[in-house]
Amino acid sequence: MKAHVILLGAPGAGKGTQAARLVADCNYKHVSTGDLLRSEIAKGSDLGNKVKSVLDKGDLVDDTMVLDLLKCNIDVTNSRYIFDGFPRTLEQVELLDKHILKDSKSLAVFFNIDFEVIVERVINRRMAPKSGEIYNLISRPPKVDGICDVSGETLIHRKDDTEEVVRNRLNVFKNAIDPIIDYYKKDNRLKVIDGAGDPEVIFGKLKEILL
Ligand code: AMP
Repeated sequence: MKAHVILLGAPGAGKGTQAARLVADCNYKHVSTGDLLRSEIAKGSDLGNKVKSVLDKGDLVDDTMVLDLLKCNIDVTNSRYIFDGFPRTLEQVELLDKHILKDSKSLAVFFNIDFEVIVERVINRRMAPKSGEIYNLISRPPKVDGICDVSGETLIHRKDDTEEVVRNRLNVFKNAIDPIIDYYKKDNRLKVIDGAGDPEVIFGKLKEILL
């Protein structure tokens, strides 16, 4: 069986876009802890109510809360997953190996990209919550303003995709990523990809690495 894939990279580095392609083309399942948390908030669950203000500020939710939510939503023995947005701290890396992946094979791919490119990308990002399509007002605008080409639903601008919150999210990312990279590097499980540029080219490189 193929290895599970852990996508590492700053918010807006393209992890979600590439994950969607891998699901469509390569039979992986995609799990995004950000999506799971947003769905708890949308449902108004106890967990959702607890984490809402944390997401609005761009800070990190408590490790065990995210781990429990993740565990309830995946089955790593029967499917191969793309982990998107988890792990985000060294503690989460260790929890993932110890409590979720255990002996299953996994590989981390780091999307390396300049922060200023990210800020530009994220403030222009629009999402279709139901279809999962991701647009960019500059590089991939929808055909009709504000409407998803695939589902016809109204596109949203995430509340945490404003410049101020994005800069905080990038700071949170910068403070946590180095030990995570070191961990996977030491374990010979790290690949690095240039996250800037054409998503099609990036996808080609990703497939070379994974297939
Ligand atoms: P994302 O959609 O991955 O950009 O995540 C959106 C927000 O959800 C983050 O800014 C955090 O507040 C929260 N979040 C997502 N994944 C995690 C995680 N693994 N650990 C802690 N907080 C998370």
